[in-house]
Amino acid sequence: MTKPANIATIAIHGGAGTILRSAMNTTQEQAYHDALNEILSAGQKILADGGSALDAVACAVSMLEDCPLFNAGKGAVYTHAGTHELDAAIMDGATLDAGAIAMVEHVRNPILAARAVMENSEHILLAGAGAEAFVAQHGVELVEPEYFHTEARHAQWLRARDKEGMLLLDHDATSQAASDETTEIAPIDPDDKFGTVGAVAVDMHGNLAAATSTGGITNKRVGRVGDSPLIGAGCYANNRTVAVSATGTGEAFMRTVAAYDISARMEYAGQSLEEAAEQVVMDLLPRYKGRGGLIAVDAQGNVVLPFNTEGMYRGFAKVGETPVTAIYK
Ligand code: ASP
Repeated sequence: MTKPANIATIAIHGGAGTILRSAMNTTQEQAYHDALNEILSAGQKILADGGSALDAVACAVSMLEDCPLFNAGKGAVYTHAGTHELDAAIMDGATLDAGAIAMVEHVRNPILAARAVMENSEHILLAGAGAEAFVAQHGVELVEPEYFHTEARHAQWLRARDKEGMLLLDHDATSQAASDETTEIAPIDPDDKFGTVGAVAVDMHGNLAAATSTGGITNKRVGRVGDSPLIGAGCYANNRTVAVSATGTGEAFMRTVAAYDISARMEYAGQSLEEAAEQVVMDLLPRYKGRGGLIAVDAQGNVVLPFNTEGMYRGFAKVGETPVTAIYK
């Protein structure tokens, strides 16, 4: 049965971290707002036309991947070896079907690869060369590693690598540069402060879906996989409760199974979406040094976008209403 169209909602994020208002000019801010608005509008249109939440989140995340402003797909961060290793996951809240890929180096749109795993294999998570071979057979586009290169991201990696042993949340890198008196690189670099991307949606049939995609953390160890492709950690959707996509220090989201924890609080403890998300982001995650945020929607179209960092690129759009975008608190 079709529910009232006004429950249909999409929310997106482009990463959380030390995004300082003082380090951004209005042109840079506008570029983020424009990108977020364009992507929200595309997702909103799918929902308005009666499309599925799954199609809406896949479309939104593939657009975020194509946009070099964000750390996923084109513009992904560098590993310690100067390569790119991409992770992504997608989940259908109606069926609990899920698909994910990790450590791929040639997939232009990792979220489409995750969807191909979900729809064409009996597995949930494929990694590395095997994942690439499988998704290529199912029509997913592969590219040369150079495709992911951006000058800004490369400069960010060189800075991080030179600070031995330091792993930077992608979006913290600019503040790092700003506090580093020796750096020649301007702290105000719009290509330098992005994180994981994600989308969550509820469609007019009341079905939920979530999608998350990332280049991970700047200067990460080769082979490191974070929370983003792990169902329940950085991505989760269940029609009974909630759809969640997370961004932040992946290891803390893994230890707390953060996305699923929100669902469990709602299902077993009767918490509202707002209470559950607030407690996970503001109380649970910080206990494990977890920095970041998440976006979540429930089957009634309630939406929350909490974060415990200075900022998070984010926005949401309800069918029939103007999209809302924001960067800072
Ligand atoms: N959660 C991502 C990871 O740990 C990073 C991020 O969101 O910035 O790979």
